[in-house]
Amino acid sequence: MARGLLGLTVDELSAELGSRTRAIELLKWLWAQPWDRAELPDTVPGVSHRVWRPFARTHGLTPLAVRSRQQSPDGTLKYALGVAGGEVEAVRIPAKGRSTVCVSSQVGCTRRCAFCATKELGYAKSLTAEQIVAQVHLARAESPADFPVRNVVFMGMGEPMDNLDEVLRAVQVLTQGPTPQLRAESVTVSTSGVVPGMRRFLAESKASLALSLNATTDEVRDRLMPHNRTWNIGSLLDVLREAAARWPRRDTFVEYVLFEGVNDTDADADRLVTFFKDLPARINLIPYNPYPGTGLRTPPTERINAFHDRVVRQGQLCLVRWPRGREIAAACGQLVLAQNAQGFSPAPSAT
Ligand code: SAH
Repeated sequence: MARGLLGLTVDELSAELGSRTRAIELLKWLWAQPWDRAELPDTVPGVSHRVWRPFARTHGLTPLAVRSRQQSPDGTLKYALGVAGGEVEAVRIPAKGRSTVCVSSQVGCTRRCAFCATKELGYAKSLTAEQIVAQVHLARAESPADFPVRNVVFMGMGEPMDNLDEVLRAVQVLTQGPTPQLRAESVTVSTSGVVPGMRRFLAESKASLALSLNATTDEVRDRLMPHNRTWNIGSLLDVLREAAARWPRRDTFVEYVLFEGVNDTDADADRLVTFFKDLPARINLIPYNPYPGTGLRTPPTERINAFHDRVVRQGQLCLVRWPRGREIAAACGQLVLAQNAQGFSPAPSAT
């Protein structure tokens, strides 16, 4: 079977259907469909039967089985999704009249960050572009009209830079016209710091990059994120410096998960500011979402606020991302199916 319809670019569709107008009509139709349409129909408005029939025979729709939906009191909705070869999770987060969809790029993860629940799953497989795009299609189809999907973040399961061909394709599909046509800056791909992938992503995509830094010394980062031994903090900052020189208007997001007594000191805050003195970075501080067995703890609220104040006072853009969806284990690093994770208590159901 050829690639599923949700993974095709408008150029590819135009070539296969023999006309750009048909490709555009098809995309408009596709994105107006309910997520659970199982098969392609016999006819699609605006696409001649003659070209549609052979196309529909070779390209299917992407099967995503919704295993569960869990809604937390703050409106965050977590989906457990069956894909061929495993299960992943996607989360829709409503805020300020729009929704952000957090997507997974792999079943499990190729990296082994000490603090992240996804590593408990190991690595099973990387998702195809259509499986990534299908997560957005589903969340978009179910979004309330007053909270349309405007942002997509690759912050679910998986390391996007270890599945970069499919991630780049998914970004292209999500940002292309006529629909869903998200702004490239509104699609953010988050990496644990895989240098070759970061370089390629920055060169080939206009989407935003988020770097999960999480430490200000290599000694601490080696412990938290073992692949820091291959790509250390200096090499990550080099990539951001090169990017800032080439694309001065492009913002980079820096994620910094705070762990008590590990990376939350005043000296850490000062080093963090120094790293980004001449770089267009926005720092997001994420209080650690604990899960059992890591030996890591969340700093007290006063320490988090003091760290934040110290960074901001030195002129650095910085926000604390207080967790959302904690009740349903949908917050960062908790995207692991409750029944698979040791020590996880089953999340309450949506109803
Ligand atoms: N592999 C990618 C994307 C997935 S993780 C990456 O590392 O960026 C998305 C974000 O969640 C990252 O910033 C990561 O540092 C953060 N994260 C992971 N586990 C967490 C936890 N237990 N508590 C808080 N944030 C966590």
